[in-house]
Amino acid sequence: MSYGTRQKFYHSKAWNDVRKTVWIKQHLLCNRCHKPVYVDGISEYLPKEKRRTGIVHHKIYLDNINVYDPHITLDINNLEGVCKECHELEHHQDQVTRNDYVFDDDGNLVLKQK
Ligand SMILES: [Zn+2]
Ligand SMILES: [Zn+2]
Repeated sequence: MSYGTRQKFYHSKAWNDVRKTVWIKQHLLCNRCHKPVYVDGISEYLPKEKRRTGIVHHKIYLDNINVYDPHITLDINNLEGVCKECHELEHHQDQVTRNDYVFDDDGNLVLKQK
């Protein structure tokens, strides 16, 4: 998937709205380890080192094609709010994470900046 497409999607209002809905539904708790997470725009301010970043994960991973399909990208049933640690575990298990990819602050898989 092109970097631009992903960025556009993750910065859309529609995504921001659905992302918030997921977190409110989960009471800002990770769906896997049930620890409280920090979510921009919802959580009260916390210094960075105290934050456990919350990430909304797509159960059906996004690819070049389905990123244009709102039934995949914005379907609440395809979304799961998890903390950064659990999210990395998920993607490691499926070996999606490669050495040249990292997660950015929003939990998006992006090419490592050289
Ligand atoms: Zn977790
Ligand atoms: Zn994910």
